[in-house]
Amino acid sequence: MPFESNLRRECEQILGKEWVKDDPVTLYAYRCDGLTLYAAPPMAVVFPGTVEELTSIVKLLNRHKISFIARGAGTGLSGGAVPQDKSVIIEMARFKEVHEVDWENRTITVGPGVINLRISEHVNSEGFHYAPDPSSQKACTIGGNLAENSGGPHTLKYGVTVNHVLGMEIVLPDGELVTLGGKHLGMPGPDLLGLMTGSEGTFAIITKIICRLTPNPETAVTLLGIYSSVREACESVSSIIRHGIIPAAMEMLDKITIAAVEKALKPGFPLDAEAVLIVELDGLIDGLDDEARVVENLLKESGATEVSRARDESERAKIWRARKEAFGAIGQISPSYYVQDGVIPRSKLPEVLDEISNIGKKHGLTVANVFHAGDGNLHPLILYNYENPEEVEKSHLIGEEILSSCIRHGGALSGEHGIGLEKAEWMTELYSNDSLKNMQNVRTFFNPENLLNPGKLFPQPGRCAESKSGTSPKSTGVLDKTKIVAAKSGIAV
Ligand SMILES: Cc1cc2nc3c(=O)[nH]c(=O)nc-3n(C[C@H](O)[C@H](O)[C@H](O)COP(=O)(O)OP(=O)(O)OC[C@H]3O[C@@H](n4cnc5c(N)ncnc54)[C@H](O)[C@@H]3O)c2cc1C
Repeated sequence: MPFESNLRRECEQILGKEWVKDDPVTLYAYRCDGLTLYAAPPMAVVFPGTVEELTSIVKLLNRHKISFIARGAGTGLSGGAVPQDKSVIIEMARFKEVHEVDWENRTITVGPGVINLRISEHVNSEGFHYAPDPSSQKACTIGGNLAENSGGPHTLKYGVTVNHVLGMEIVLPDGELVTLGGKHLGMPGPDLLGLMTGSEGTFAIITKIICRLTPNPETAVTLLGIYSSVREACESVSSIIRHGIIPAAMEMLDKITIAAVEKALKPGFPLDAEAVLIVELDGLIDGLDDEARVVENLLKESGATEVSRARDESERAKIWRARKEAFGAIGQISPSYYVQDGVIPRSKLPEVLDEISNIGKKHGLTVANVFHAGDGNLHPLILYNYENPEEVEKSHLIGEEILSSCIRHGGALSGEHGIGLEKAEWMTELYSNDSLKNMQNVRTFFNPENLLNPGKLFPQPGRCAESKSGTSPKSTGVLDKTKIVAAKSGIAV
């Protein structure tokens, strides 16, 4: 559908000419998010700067029955911000105001376009930070984080986005402005804040967020374990948790990722290691050294050939930069890559990682791994050449088989990147028809005409009754789907 001139004029009257764009370069730039395997140009991109402008635009699009999507920084990795049916993209980048810092209540109120890392930078001098730290935190927005309920390396100890949001202001798809929560914990009645967080931009557009601030730890110790097998690195993860210690973070990089980060960032990881495990402990100075020594022993007992400690802040920063910029570093060794995101019980890490390696070998593509090991949140990176259609097809197949493996091992479709467009049809593998219908009824309550971010999170109408593999699921839960998914992927159960 073209962006016809009357509609454009009405948008321009609300926002001014410069904030309404449908030129080919803009439409190309907004055709996809961080998952470039899925792309479709929007009808137009509009840039509201105030809540009043936003509500007017939403009411206008609603009146014309044109679908629309809120977009933050576009770093999403599940196609959540990819326009369907030529939707209009509502870019929220101009909502980047820090409205208030309330030290007594330890909250910060921000616009959804504020970049995640900016929040911590804003309050750091007073000894606070915003705890959820996605590896994309230099670029992604807090609005996108809420929509995806994002995690990050330090969410192992501190919890994901939903644990750090106390209130929000939202605009419903008919333009109604609603506030939820406040500066205090807990509201009577159903947890609408929790419902909104992780709804992937399909319930409402978030316009203001009250976040909880976390005091900076007194000190942190960052350990690096070196391994001659991925399996032993996984054993270390289980052994630390079994011992009753919850580190702030436990992140793993495999041999292929080590090669890429060494090429790009030179953190000093050994190129002959099969895996490195980053373990960070934080808290009060008293006792942390003792705890670190216990962890060092556990790492060695479970197979680490070498364990070292970051000696100062610059060594610590070097290790974390290598982890947080690992996805980008993969560009050094492959023209493109497809990041999968699955979650499994931590204890299943060794088996599933072996399986992932075999799936890659079977299809003839390399799969690298860098992931939140402590959470059992895998990020296999499937390396392919976007100019080779056969490799593109294979990367999809490998991604599907990895998801099958996660489900079969008692896990789920996403640890933190969301369902988006990428995995919407896969929801039938995880939930029964009744469960999906119930969830969709909730979406319909907020978004009755499905004008806000259509095609995301849930299967397309008519697909709900059948599982993706063509077999009707019998009940909620993953166990009864195990065989269905396994049969589809050709993996023996
Ligand atoms: C290199 C890299 C590393 C990453 N590491 C992590 C990680 O460690 N942990 C993690 O969880 N994710 C990670 N991600 C994924 C991604 O950064 C997160 O999902 C992030 O929250 C997306 O934010 P965004 O602003 O880019 O949102 P977008 O991609 O613009 O949008 C994502 C979804 O949010 C919705 N949305 C955006 N703004 C609003 C709003 N104001 N109101 C309602 N809905 C809205 C959109 O409609 C869309 O559905 C990573 C991505 C990359 C590229």
